[in-house]
Amino acid sequence: MRRAGTVYLVGAGPGAPDLITVRALRQLRVADFVLYDALVAPELLEEARSDAQHIYVGKRGYCVGSTVQGEINELMIQLARQGRAVCRLKGGDPCVFGRGGEEAEALAAAGIPFEIIPGVTAALALSSAGIPLTHRAAGQSVALVTGHFDPDSPDCTLDWEALARLTCVVFYMGLRHLARIAARISEAGMSLDTPAAVVERLTSSDERVVTGTLANIAARAADAGAQAPALIVVGEPVRYRERLALTIADALSTPARVTHDQPR
Ligand code: SAH
Repeated sequence: MRRAGTVYLVGAGPGAPDLITVRALRQLRVADFVLYDALVAPELLEEARSDAQHIYVGKRGYCVGSTVQGEINELMIQLARQGRAVCRLKGGDPCVFGRGGEEAEALAAAGIPFEIIPGVTAALALSSAGIPLTHRAAGQSVALVTGHFDPDSPDCTLDWEALARLTCVVFYMGLRHLARIAARISEAGMSLDTPAAVVERLTSSDERVVTGTLANIAARAADAGAQAPALIVVGEPVRYRERLALTIADALSTPARVTHDQPR
């Protein structure tokens, strides 16, 4: 249903265009304006009405500065005040490291009606790469954490000791700081033998997975030339990737897609 003057903060899912939700797709198809970010699968824009306007407002890495963010908020508010239906399409879930909460606050403050439509956040799509985040035998906790800040800078407020006690930690936006992240979490008490993975472009046709341990994952990812967007996963669930009998990409030689037709 298209509601004039409403802004929909919509999760586009983790990469593959068909991992968007039915509700999200419904809104995307009726919107007058689609404001989208870098992580949104380009195929999804073809789902918008042929006369809808697409406006790119993203920047890879999601380090959108506050001025840019202010402009995005202002644009949504102006369009809604003109009676337009706005689909603000964001990679993954709009409120998991996606500033959806801030955008919703700005809309609420301006008195603009809005709705948040959740999406499959990148970490939850790790299951499709053979990494079950909460396997019962692999522990009882998982944390989603931003690795955006240099672990040695005062901007980074992560409690490394607390993270080191968890059985699985997923870092978003952390590739640049991978070596320091691995060092900090091991100094805080996590074993250097803990399995670790870097998963690039999860669920897209060029998904790639580099596996190792906390001790060597930074070197392996660097050797493989790993690039954003990528998740860093540390913890026992990574071990299951092999046990699930998936075809594992040997990132150092020929990258391969995970296939699901192996015997289980
Ligand atoms: N709102 C998004 C996250 C945005 S922050 C979500 O819910 O998924 C951007 C970071 O998300 C990237 O730096 C990367 O760490 C992660 N990310 C998003 N899509 C990804 C993908 N397809 N593969 C691997 N990591 C991804």
